[in-house]
Amino acid sequence: MKATILYGPRDVRIEDRPDPTIVAPTDAIIRLSASCICGSDLWPYRGANVVKEPAPMGHEYCGIVEEVGSAVRSVRKGQFVIGSFFASDNTCPHCAHGYQTSCQQKTPVVGAQAPLLRVPLADGTLVATQDVPSPDMIPSMLAISDVLGTGWFAADAANVKAGATVVVVGDGAVGLLAVLSAKCMGAERIIAMSRHESRQRLAREYGATDIVTERGDEGAARIKELTNDVGADSVLECVGTQESMWQAIRAARPGGYVSYVGVPHGVQLDGAKLFYTHAHLHGGPAPVRRYLPKLIDLVERGEIDPGKVFDLTLPLEQVAEGYRAMDERRAIKTLLTT
Ligand SMILES: [Zn+2]
Ligand SMILES: [Zn+2]
Repeated sequence: MKATILYGPRDVRIEDRPDPTIVAPTDAIIRLSASCICGSDLWPYRGANVVKEPAPMGHEYCGIVEEVGSAVRSVRKGQFVIGSFFASDNTCPHCAHGYQTSCQQKTPVVGAQAPLLRVPLADGTLVATQDVPSPDMIPSMLAISDVLGTGWFAADAANVKAGATVVVVGDGAVGLLAVLSAKCMGAERIIAMSRHESRQRLAREYGATDIVTERGDEGAARIKELTNDVGADSVLECVGTQESMWQAIRAARPGGYVSYVGVPHGVQLDGAKLFYTHAHLHGGPAPVRRYLPKLIDLVERGEIDPGKVFDLTLPLEQVAEGYRAMDERRAIKTLLTT
């Protein structure tokens, strides 16, 4: 099969690789209905993480089960399934508490920018839909696998409640879907921090009531201004830089909640400064598995359309252009047809 391999900074190639096979009896092989590029793939693409050896890329997936190992019980050949970027058993104490991305058996799922994918711990990881979804529903199903699941966790971890004032830092796909998630949870006011017109438009469509273009200290000051000098109840940090993290913490009211779902790069928190904010902090790799049944149901019932974050569709062979478009912020998120 043709698979996406990262060789080094800005060097992503499509090359022939053997089809994945069942390795452990708990594995499943999935034929992907579509694939995509994640904002977090841009970190190694830009050289922020060192690529020691050619790395298969892609961790967001949905598709039809092609084969299962002998120990797999809950999914079967022919079903349409969605999973998350860490495989999990869904039975250990951490999974039972809803933190499947800290599963005692967690295993990263890699190589999803390809037509076929091996998913470990299939019973705990994969959730099957009632029916095979129609083609127009595939982008939204694929969005559930990571960006919606992560945006939903951002809203949940920041304790978004009916009537809340919410700030979302970051206008990537996760930030935009964090806006949608906050709206679904009943937030009354949703302030999206964005400088890009097309992203601002989608943020408004998803439920943002205000847009703030300032960043850093100015951004935090603007939030204070918009909230009568109080700050927001919930702030959802969806970037992962030092500037965005402090912007988020300073935008929250004393006693407010700050979630952080952007993979941190160079973020350091000053204990004394943090002490005086009274902030609740809760974040980490989103336990998307916890939310899969709920999110699949919302998409199946047509209540949400998270697939709109895909504003560029390319065949898998053109994956390198897909990375470039996202790197240059010409695209919010690239969908790859397999
Ligand atoms: Zn991702
Ligand atoms: Zn577990």
